[in-house]
Amino acid sequence: MAEKYDVVIVGAGPSGTLAAKHAAQGGCKVVMLERAAIPGQKNMSGSYFFKTWMEECWPGFVDQDFLDGHIKLGGVQFAWTPDNDYKFYGMIVQPGAETMYEMQTVFRNETDPWVAEQAVKAGAELVCATVSDAIWDGDRVVGVKTDKGDFMAPIVMDCSGLHAILGKRTGLTNWGPDKVMLGLKYIFKGDPDELRRLMNTYFDDEGNEVDYGAFPIFAGNRPEFWGAHCVCEPGRDGTINLIIYQCLAEMIANKTNIHQRAQWMLNMPPYKNILDASDFVYCNFHCLASGDLVGYTKKSYMKGLMIMGDAGGFAQPLDNFGANCAQAQGIIAGKLAAEMTKAKDFSEEKFAEFEERWKETWLPEDNVPEVNRVMREGSIDVVIDCMDEAMNLFFQKKFENYSYPAIIGSMLPKFLPVMGEVPVIAGAMTGILRTGVKKATDMMALLASDD
Ligand SMILES: Cc1cc2nc3c(=O)[nH]c(=O)nc-3n(C[C@H](O)[C@H](O)[C@H](O)COP(=O)(O)OP(=O)(O)OC[C@H]3O[C@@H](n4cnc5c(N)ncnc54)[C@H](O)[C@@H]3O)c2cc1C
Repeated sequence: MAEKYDVVIVGAGPSGTLAAKHAAQGGCKVVMLERAAIPGQKNMSGSYFFKTWMEECWPGFVDQDFLDGHIKLGGVQFAWTPDNDYKFYGMIVQPGAETMYEMQTVFRNETDPWVAEQAVKAGAELVCATVSDAIWDGDRVVGVKTDKGDFMAPIVMDCSGLHAILGKRTGLTNWGPDKVMLGLKYIFKGDPDELRRLMNTYFDDEGNEVDYGAFPIFAGNRPEFWGAHCVCEPGRDGTINLIIYQCLAEMIANKTNIHQRAQWMLNMPPYKNILDASDFVYCNFHCLASGDLVGYTKKSYMKGLMIMGDAGGFAQPLDNFGANCAQAQGIIAGKLAAEMTKAKDFSEEKFAEFEERWKETWLPEDNVPEVNRVMREGSIDVVIDCMDEAMNLFFQKKFENYSYPAIIGSMLPKFLPVMGEVPVIAGAMTGILRTGVKKATDMMALLASDD
C-alpha cells in the first residue's frame, strides 16, 4: 500500500531539509526519504557554513554543542604543484577578517541530524529509505519507489546530491566520469597539544581557537586536474580531515589513481609533520560535482518534479559553498510547494516557476567557470612562475641592499610574460567578488520573505 503525501523529498541534506521545513510550515504533509541510517552519515564534506545564514535558516544553530571547539579559519594556504614540483604560497588573512570568522567549520555527520530534527519539528516526517526510481503517470512523476515501499505525491523533489537518482531516471541530469571528481577522504587523530604546537594555533579574545595553516589547498598538475584540502581540529579530539579530489575521466585517461596522488601528497611539507604525529582512523570515497565540469542542469523541473542542489549540478566544490546553492533552492522549492498545495495547482507552469525563481537569485552567476578555466588552462601557473621568479629577485636584491625603486625596476620585466593573463584572472576575480556580494544580499532576502 503506497503512502500518500503532498510533498515527497529524496534526501535529507541541505536542500532537502530546508525544502521540507518550508513546505511543512506552509501546511503540506511532507516526507523526507533518506538512505543513510541517520542524515549526514554518508556525507564527507568538511565543511564550512556561513554562520549567520545558518542561524537564519535554523534558529538555535549557533548555540549547539556541535560547534564547540571547532577551529576558526585564520588564513588560507595555497600550494600550486606544476609538474609535481611542490610550491607553497601562503595567503594569510588577518585574524578578525569578517568573512573568515563568518565561516563556521562543522562536521556534517553532526549538523545534518540536528537540522533534519528541526525539519521534523516543523512538521515534516523523516523515513530512512533508499529511493530507487520514479513512479510515473504518463509523463508526470507522481511518486518514488523505495526499499520501504512506494511514496506518492503531486510534488516530488530530488535532493539526493550528486547521485541525482531521479534526475538520472527522468533524464533531467546526465553526467559521466568527465564531469565528476572522485574524492578520497582521510580521517586521522593526532594528539591535540602536539597538533596545536605543529599548527601554531592560538586563541582569540572570544576564546576561539584560530588556525592559520589549517587549510592548505592544492591545485593543478595539468592535465590531471585535482585539488586537496585539510582541516586540523585540535579542539575536536585532534581530528584531521584531509580530502583529495581528482577528475575521474582524467584519471582514466592518464591511467593514474587517486591513491598514488594521495601517497605523494601525504608526504608534502604541510601535511607530513602533522600526519607523522597522528594515527590513521579511516578513509572513504565520495564523488563530487566539479564546478564548470558538471554545470547546472539545463532544466531543473518537469511535471511533478523539481531537482535541486548537487542533484542538479548546482555545486561549486572549488569555492566549496555548494551547500548554499542547495539551501537557497530548498527554500524556494519548499515555499513554492506550499503555494501549489494551497492552490491545488500542479500544472507544469507552476513547476516551471521553481526555475524562474532560482534564476532571479545570484545562482546563475555562481557558476564561476572562470576559476576552473584559469586553473585548468594553466594561466595561473604562468602567473605563479613569474611571481616566483620576481619574489626570488626581490629577496636577493633586498639582501644586497638595493633601493626599493631599483628592486621594483628589476622585478617588472619578470611580469612581462603574464601581462596577457592579467585581464583573464582579474575578470575571474571581479566576477567572483560581484557574485559574492549579490549572494549575501539575496540569501538574506530569501529568508526575509518568509511567511
Ligand atoms: C569534500 C567536500 C567538501 C565540501 N565542502 C563544502 C563547504 O565547506 N561548504 C559548502 O557549502 N559546501 C561544501 N561542499 C559541497 C556541499 O557538501 C554540497 O554542495 C551540499 O551538501 C549539497 O547539498 P544537497 O542537499 O544537494 O545534497 P547532499 O548534501 O549530498 O545530500 C543528499 C542526501 O541525499 C541522500 N541520498 C542520496 N541518494 C539517495 C537515495 N537514492 N535515496 C534516499 N536518499 C538518498 C544522501 O544520503 C544525502 O543525505 C563540499 C563537498 C565535498 C564533497
